[in-house]
Amino acid sequence: MTDPTAAAELAALPYYVRAHVQIMRGCFVWTGAMTGPDASQPRAWDPELRRLVTVSRHVFEITRGRPVDRARVVLRRCGNPRCVRPRHLVTA
Ligand SMILES: [Zn+2]
Repeated sequence: MTDPTAAAELAALPYYVRAHVQIMRGCFVWTGAMTGPDASQPRAWDPELRRLVTVSRHVFEITRGRPVDRARVVLRRCGNPRCVRPRHLVTA
């Protein structure tokens, strides 16, 4: 890993997210399960909440330290639907 910022960002994510992320061209590419009507949303089991979570929303909330209003969506600035890198996530 040559990007120290990426390493620090990755280390800040919970292990059940880190375990399914591959760093590729600056993105944290989700290699785990996908969900949603068109299988476009990274999905993970949160062992603490004991429920499935949408990873992009979950990561956004963890790293920003606040919940995202359910009326809002979490999008990726990079355009990669599998990316869950905190700095690539924005709400709309
Ligand atoms: Zn990205």
